[in-house]
Amino acid sequence: MELLNIKKLCLTDKKVFIRCDFNVPMDEFGNISDDRRIRSAISTINFCLDQNCSVILASHFGRPKGEIVQKYSLSPIARRIQHLLKRDVSMAKDVVGPDALQKASELKEGEVLLLENLRFEMGETKNDEELSKALASMADVYINDAFGVCHRAHSSVEGITKFFDDKHKAAGFLLQKEIEFFAKLISKPIRPFAAIIGGSKVSGKLEALINLLPKVDKIFIGGGMAFTFLKQMGYDIGASLVEDELLQDAQHIMDEAKKLGVKFYLPVDVIAADKFAQDAVSKIVTAQEIPSGWMGLDIGPATVRLYREALNDVQTVLWNGPMGVYEMDKFARGSSKIAHFVADSYATTVVGGGDTADLVQRIGVDDEISFISTGGGASLELLEGKILPGVAPLIIREA
Ligand code: AMP
Repeated sequence: MELLNIKKLCLTDKKVFIRCDFNVPMDEFGNISDDRRIRSAISTINFCLDQNCSVILASHFGRPKGEIVQKYSLSPIARRIQHLLKRDVSMAKDVVGPDALQKASELKEGEVLLLENLRFEMGETKNDEELSKALASMADVYINDAFGVCHRAHSSVEGITKFFDDKHKAAGFLLQKEIEFFAKLISKPIRPFAAIIGGSKVSGKLEALINLLPKVDKIFIGGGMAFTFLKQMGYDIGASLVEDELLQDAQHIMDEAKKLGVKFYLPVDVIAADKFAQDAVSKIVTAQEIPSGWMGLDIGPATVRLYREALNDVQTVLWNGPMGVYEMDKFARGSSKIAHFVADSYATTVVGGGDTADLVQRIGVDDEISFISTGGGASLELLEGKILPGVAPLIIREA
């Protein structure tokens, strides 16, 4: 699959719209805790600026759901881009409102404009044509470098591409790199191939789990999603996170794994807490002995040992989703131990997803991971073999 190449575009004197993914994690004080996604877009932005064009940057951030919510403003992100680009970045007060349109029309060569959070517009997630058109009207060329959101048919990702012909749109360097990496990973993974899947819910990763089963040799489950499986196996999981409506799906996944000969691992012990808080009373218990009313917030030490043992011979590891509530130190140990083990292994290691990327960076092992993808959902959908809606319009069609 070959994508329209940014290097083949004529960008001189043009206005270039770059859809980025600046949806970065922030701490409770509004500081950016991992700016990987911003740093990853810099080479595309600089490449464009080097061609003497002007650049309009656009991204979503958080889930403001079509409303203007100050805490989701992109202003802290504008400051970070400015710092990384070492040049001024002006910020529009809106997305396609009068301020954005005026600033975009007045943009001169070498200047950079950042639009406000795309999701302040209700139409963005609905792939609204009017919004796509308004966004497209600001620029001559469209570049998509937002891998993390390419699995969504949104206005600035999919709809907007209809307003540019193949000579005026392309994939940015980051998008290109991600697509190439996953294409190789799917076509020839070195086996054994293991997927470590964690995070809060089965629902978000249900399809990915089902589709990964025929591709991998081992699956390791962690995080909140483990409890839906444990409950289905008849364990009393106390007040742990559970999706009762997915119990049958959990059973289906375990049955399929068995049928396909995929080794399916669940936590054998957990760190149970009396409440969802850093100052909770907590203890290590086996998965069978979670006290009633308590919740499992991390995998326990026996699970860490078991997972390490079973990961020992693995040659390719895909990790998506933390093993516990890693944002609270008390429940970060399981994720941290697995992160160190994955980082130290000689396997090809791939980490996907904002939380997991944030986690390996916090722990300081990010340099040891073979590939950190900026997209969690997007990378899982690629591994399922899907063509992402944001990528499809950028594929070079046979003449
Ligand atoms: P996801 O976005 O689905 O990858 O989930 C990431 C989130 O899952 C993180 O914010 C974790 O705090 C949360 N998480 C992980 N383990 C648990 C758990 N055992 N109970 C509740 N939340 C969890």
